[in-house]
Amino acid sequence: MNTGPAATNSPAATPAPTSANSAVATTATAIVNIASLVTNDPSLGDGTPLGLIQDAAVVIDGDRVVWVGESSKAPATDNRVDAAGRAVIPGFVDSHSHLVFAGDRTAEFHARMSGQPYKAGGIRTTVAATRAATDAELSANVAHYMAEALRQGTTTFETKSGYGLTVEDEARALRIAAEHTDEVTYLGAHIVSPDYADDPAAYVDLVTGPMLDACAPHARWIDVFCEKGAFDGDQARAILTAGQAKGLAARIHANQLSYGPGVQLAVELGAASADHCTHLTDADVDALASGDTVATLLPGAEFSTRAQWPDARRLVDAGVTVALSTDCNPGSSFTSSVPFCVALAVRDMRMTPDEALWSATAGGAAALRRTDIGRVAVGARADLVLLDAPSHVHLAYRPGVPLVAQVWRTGVRVA
Ligand SMILES: [Zn+2]
Repeated sequence: MNTGPAATNSPAATPAPTSANSAVATTATAIVNIASLVTNDPSLGDGTPLGLIQDAAVVIDGDRVVWVGESSKAPATDNRVDAAGRAVIPGFVDSHSHLVFAGDRTAEFHARMSGQPYKAGGIRTTVAATRAATDAELSANVAHYMAEALRQGTTTFETKSGYGLTVEDEARALRIAAEHTDEVTYLGAHIVSPDYADDPAAYVDLVTGPMLDACAPHARWIDVFCEKGAFDGDQARAILTAGQAKGLAARIHANQLSYGPGVQLAVELGAASADHCTHLTDADVDALASGDTVATLLPGAEFSTRAQWPDARRLVDAGVTVALSTDCNPGSSFTSSVPFCVALAVRDMRMTPDEALWSATAGGAAALRRTDIGRVAVGARADLVLLDAPSHVHLAYRPGVPLVAQVWRTGVRVA
């Protein structure tokens, strides 16, 4: 996916049933001599969640993985790629970004790095620039940052509206996002529109009424920024339940800048993901551990705002499913690099290198309720990254180094 309207793999696509022992077409491509293959299939390899196989091979045919195993046992294929002792991992699944925007917030970042705290209101700057941009400019911007992410190994990208905040501008943002990805999220409730500054309740009525009607056909998800200065718990509940009634699935920006009701609301409403999770009570952690809501951590935001890191160790130890994503947006986290987030998670959030890699691939897939991506196993979509390193550990061990050598998305080598 992420290739435009012609992409055929919908989120609901079911992997073709293929056995590891079935005959492999000679039109397939075998990637052999992989020193270390992360499958995220615990039934394979070393039995850990990463399902690590040493001296491995992968065979892809069409858009699917059709064979995984030891390199010496790889079936004959017409096409062969020699990994030459390097590592292969699943393509990254970036389940949280805000790419439909225009304008620039370099000055705000510069000021913040000179000592001013981050407040939610900076979004208004981007709203003004986005409203003024043409469709072509917005679409080119999305394409630019998705290509940038693809070169860094991201093969699935979620992205949101939220910089239009009118019926027309939100629907336009989602229409444009849907040209580039199937994972599109309606975030009319990013902040209260400046046009409704004196009447937030009327803005919630708009978001849950005419704006939702115009946006729902273009989106899979609905999201809300539940935070002081944005939307409170009651407003967030009204917004998410209205979206669910229109067939959208819920996700939420929760507990980023302060403690609040967002995480508990996410679990209560069965949201796929509670994103940020920086300020959590023990009850919040317990709620996440007992439900099936993924905690999506976005360390690029804490990095770029010099804020307190989310406590990934606490979440993982409590049994919470954790995803790692970029939150790529022009204000609070202008990175499209999942490897950078992996390095931050290991260095500053006390995840192990294995946990961070899992969260950036399988965790992201879980946050999007996808089973066809985030793993390298028979039947999964052929989204693979060949690293210029002998193992995935180098993503954190060699931070900032461009280690992505080759990328396959839906079986096609794209970078
Ligand atoms: Zn966000």
